[in-house]
Amino acid sequence: MAKRCPICNRSSEEIVFVGEFCRGCASKRFSERIPSEIEIERCRVCGKIRTTEGIREEDKLSLNSAIGQRLAKFRVKVIQYNPGKATLDVVGDVPGGSVSAEKEVEIRYKKMTCETCYKKIGGYYEATVQLRGEPERVSRFVERISRYVENHNGFIAKVENVEGGLDVYISNKSLASGFISEKGLKATLSSTLSGLNNSGKKVYKNTYAIRV
Ligand SMILES: [Zn+2]
Ligand SMILES: [Zn+2]
Repeated sequence: MAKRCPICNRSSEEIVFVGEFCRGCASKRFSERIPSEIEIERCRVCGKIRTTEGIREEDKLSLNSAIGQRLAKFRVKVIQYNPGKATLDVVGDVPGGSVSAEKEVEIRYKKMTCETCYKKIGGYYEATVQLRGEPERVSRFVERISRYVENHNGFIAKVENVEGGLDVYISNKSLASGFISEKGLKATLSSTLSGLNNSGKKVYKNTYAIRV
C-alpha cells in the first residue's frame, strides 16, 4: 500500500521513502540533527589542528578527520572548505534506513598548544648529537639532520657552538638514532639520567658523538 509523507504529503508511488518520511523530508529532518557549528582544536603557536591521526597542517583531508571526530556517529566528507566554513556531505542512520544531507557548517577554533610546541617552548630535548670534524662538513650535517627531524614531525631544540664542532639538541631519541642509521654513520652513544617521567619511570637523555 502506498504511504504518504506526513510532512509534504507526497506518495511513496512518486518518491522513495526512508521509514515513514519521503527521502527529501527524511534528509531535511536529518540535517537538523547535524550541528551548525563545529569546534576544532588549533595550536596557537604553529596553527596546526588536532585530528584522529594527531596534530596536522590544516587542509581538506585533516579537516575531514577533525570534523569526523566531532561527528563520530555520522559518516562525514568535506566537500568544500574555506577558512572558518565547510560544506559537508553527512550520512547517518535514521529509522528505516540511512540518509545523506549536505550542510554548511561554521568552524570554531579552540586555541590550544600542541604537544610539540609545548615541548619546544619548554626547551625539551631527548638527544644530543655531537658533530665533530671539518666545519663545513659539520654544518652540512646539521642541515641534513634538521631536515630529517622536521620531516618526521620532530624539532631541533637548539644548536650550540662548541670546540671542534656543533652540538645539536633533538626532540626525540628515535629521530637521532633513525638519522644515524639511515646515513650509516658511526656514533658513540652515552646515556645520562635526566629525571623521572610522570609515571615515575627513569628517563635518559642520549648523546651521540659523531666524527664527520
Ligand atoms: Zn516529504
Ligand atoms: Zn603547535
